[in-house]
Amino acid sequence: MAKKVVVVGGGSGGLVTARMVQTEARRLGKDIDVTLISASEKHYMPPLFSEVALGTASPEETWAPIKGAEQAYGFKVVIDPVKTFDLKGQKVVTEGGKTFEYDFLTIALGTAYGWSDYKGLDKYGVHNYTEEGAVEMQKALYEFKGKKIVFLVPELPFRCGIYPGEMAMNIRAYYETRGMMPEITVLFPQEAMRAGLGEGLAEFFGRRFMRNHIRYEPGFEELIEVTENKVITKKGEYEYDLLIKSPPSRLPKVLADNGLAHPGDKRWSVVTGPLFQHPEYKNVYLVGEHAMPPVGLMTAGVPIHNAAVIAASSILNDALGGYLIPSYAPTLCVGHSYESGFAGNCEFWWIPEEGKWGHACYTVATGPIVRMMKDSFYRGWLDALR
Ligand SMILES: Cc1cc2nc3c(=O)[nH]c(=O)nc-3n(C[C@H](O)[C@H](O)[C@H](O)COP(=O)(O)OP(=O)(O)OC[C@H]3O[C@@H](n4cnc5c(N)ncnc54)[C@H](O)[C@@H]3O)c2cc1C
Repeated sequence: MAKKVVVVGGGSGGLVTARMVQTEARRLGKDIDVTLISASEKHYMPPLFSEVALGTASPEETWAPIKGAEQAYGFKVVIDPVKTFDLKGQKVVTEGGKTFEYDFLTIALGTAYGWSDYKGLDKYGVHNYTEEGAVEMQKALYEFKGKKIVFLVPELPFRCGIYPGEMAMNIRAYYETRGMMPEITVLFPQEAMRAGLGEGLAEFFGRRFMRNHIRYEPGFEELIEVTENKVITKKGEYEYDLLIKSPPSRLPKVLADNGLAHPGDKRWSVVTGPLFQHPEYKNVYLVGEHAMPPVGLMTAGVPIHNAAVIAASSILNDALGGYLIPSYAPTLCVGHSYESGFAGNCEFWWIPEEGKWGHACYTVATGPIVRMMKDSFYRGWLDALR
């Protein structure tokens, strides 16, 4: 009988896993039954939320229907949030009351946003971390007449480490061409660029910040409160006319409710080893953003893509009785500031004694063609589902 593979989550990690298991099995003439279960009919490409905020993309352009994967890749898609993970019984149960049994399970549920975990953070400021947020931010940027813009990262690690640097440069360009020169400050609780991206990329950002007159201020240590016009931290206060905020990452509630929180840090999920498996149930893979920090990886779509390829290969190996499991690929992280793009490459190696991936990053290319690469990748990815 065909092995049953259930994938929970219809974002980056879920789509890559389901797509690879189904299409590879079909190509090899093998029968595998893949079902992807998602809470939302929308499969987002979240980096495009930044384009919505800048006015260069419509909200509709940021997503494609995940149901489109049925025709494009041949696996089943069910829209119904999962409520219960029964790992011992090898089944998941949805809020709609449906039970799905599996031989292999992959979980990729992104991250939840802990806006209300700091006083005032949920009330003040704008963000483009959701489709709705991006629409509000577009209006706020257009109507802005003030002098001080503050980017606030309340905690590390946070979703998409290059975001504030990349967006700060875009915001500089946004106002420069309108004859406005607001003061732009990027606030981090600790030194983040060097730690997360390595020396080469941190130097690149340093040069770009200098050229764009962006103040990079790491080291406020702890966020105390956000008020109507101030960010109050342990190390000082920062006035703003416009606050652009990143969310603190929190474990999706369904994972916490089902005992899948990481014992060392409850913001993340359990996960172990270079194959991204559950510590006890080796037929369960965790490849969402919630599983990246415990194994030393960044909270972004590119590492998740690589993790999903490894999980899919491991499933194919067990289900088909032999399939090459690739080593973790280098990740090309691509960003842009207005018309020009930049690509940083990170190489990874597994460190068994630490149970984590080590990494080294460097800048490989900058220029308009990199921005073109980025746009084509995002839009082609979504167009395949339409
Ligand atoms: C503004 C912004 C810019 C970014 N830029 C970049 C970038 O340039 N490069 C990069 O690599 N990454 C970037 N990222 C990060 C990247 O988008 C995420 O890391 C990635 O999408 C996370 O993948 P995931 O599969 O873990 O979760 P997601 O893509 O968030 O998907 C989670 C899925 O789980 C589903 N779900 C939730 N609860 C349930 C449930 N109970 N049952 C079933 N399904 C459920 C949701 O509906 C969703 O389909 C950016 C993110 C943002 C917000």
